[in-house]
Amino acid sequence: MTRPFAIILGCSDSRVPAEIVFDQGLGDLFVIRVAGNIVAPSQVGSVEFAAERYETRLVVVLGHTQCGAILATLEELRQPTEQSRNLLAIVDRIRPSVQGLLHTSLKDDPDALVREAVRANIRASADHLRHGSALLEQLIRDRGLLVVGAEYSLETGVVDFFDAPV
Ligand SMILES: [Zn+2]
Repeated sequence: MTRPFAIILGCSDSRVPAEIVFDQGLGDLFVIRVAGNIVAPSQVGSVEFAAERYETRLVVVLGHTQCGAILATLEELRQPTEQSRNLLAIVDRIRPSVQGLLHTSLKDDPDALVREAVRANIRASADHLRHGSALLEQLIRDRGLLVVGAEYSLETGVVDFFDAPV
């Protein structure tokens, strides 16, 4: 059986296909993509499925610079609009990790704000996977499952694995 060696929870953005970013082939990666690399029940379930079935022991939450879902969330926080309920379901997953940043000095520096918001959202998704599932918690504790957060830079092509568990 082909066993993917990593599970990637990435953004749907057309510029960040996980297999190309990491130079991997068929069968190597179990990839879950959703706008804003958010973690909702179906994403947790997908990670649980792959970690159980394929015994994959590495999960990478892969966000990226200039993420449109983060930009949309920041716009929504500044000026709420009539979004579709479905789109709001994504924004609402991102909102808690970024809204606090609007009350810091970052609010006066739009580029820095987006940079920090992207990373805060990646951290939140990784934390959610580490603590939002009894099965994943057990695999982390007993079977060496590792969940890390990483950011792909559209500008440089570099992936920064900045969020590892302590
Ligand atoms: Zn994105």
